[in-house]
Amino acid sequence: MRNLAQLHPVLQMKAVELQELCKHNGIAIKYSECLRTAAEQDALYAKGRTAKGSIVTNAKGSSYSSMHQWGVAIDFYLDMDIDRDGSKIDDAYNNSTHLFEKVGKLAQSLGLEWGGSWKTIKDLPHVQLADWGSTPAQLKKTYGTPDRFFKTWTDATQKQTVIDDKPSTASKNVYDAAQVFDKKLAGNYIVSAKSGLNLRQGTNKGVITCMPKNSKVKCYGYCTGDYLLVEYGKYTGYAHKDYLKK
Ligand SMILES: [Zn+2]
Repeated sequence: MRNLAQLHPVLQMKAVELQELCKHNGIAIKYSECLRTAAEQDALYAKGRTAKGSIVTNAKGSSYSSMHQWGVAIDFYLDMDIDRDGSKIDDAYNNSTHLFEKVGKLAQSLGLEWGGSWKTIKDLPHVQLADWGSTPAQLKKTYGTPDRFFKTWTDATQKQTVIDDKPSTASKNVYDAAQVFDKKLAGNYIVSAKSGLNLRQGTNKGVITCMPKNSKVKCYGYCTGDYLLVEYGKYTGYAHKDYLKK
């Protein structure tokens, strides 16, 4: 399923962050696979076994042994015309310029686990949250089924907010100059991200603080890319527009 909203809230934020970080490095990515149901996983498992094609996974749907079924993994593809034939679709998995390794490194820099670092089946387009180990063994042991794990997400994200809420070592009120002024962007916003939203010194810079859900911020119309320059209490910094609602 290609619905980011079904993923673990922390992964939702990291996925957007990774996309931004890639953009800054000249790489355009999109996401193909998000939360996978047991039936979808069974269809994949059948490939190369009871259905045509070659084997792509060792995980059966009913055993919940794919991290995709737990909402903590995501697959990316390239959204670029690498071979310059006027089409991007044929380059979604074109790794001739080793962009998958580059995206993997960027994902790792955000604390994500990259499937390309695995020893057995290397899974270049795959990234996942690193909090529960490489396989769902720990998740299965603790929660039994994905549904039970999904119910804990509200608590988990509240904890996450508390952890991130401590002001970081980033120096306060030091931030990049905004690149664009657009009067339409000016106004009061509310943080809509369940797990809170990072206020940063720049689009790809240190975190000043994490603003909890429903925090009020003010924008004077300045932005850089997808980040609005906002005032939050005594702080000023950049926050991703997708998690700010007017
Ligand atoms: Zn994957």
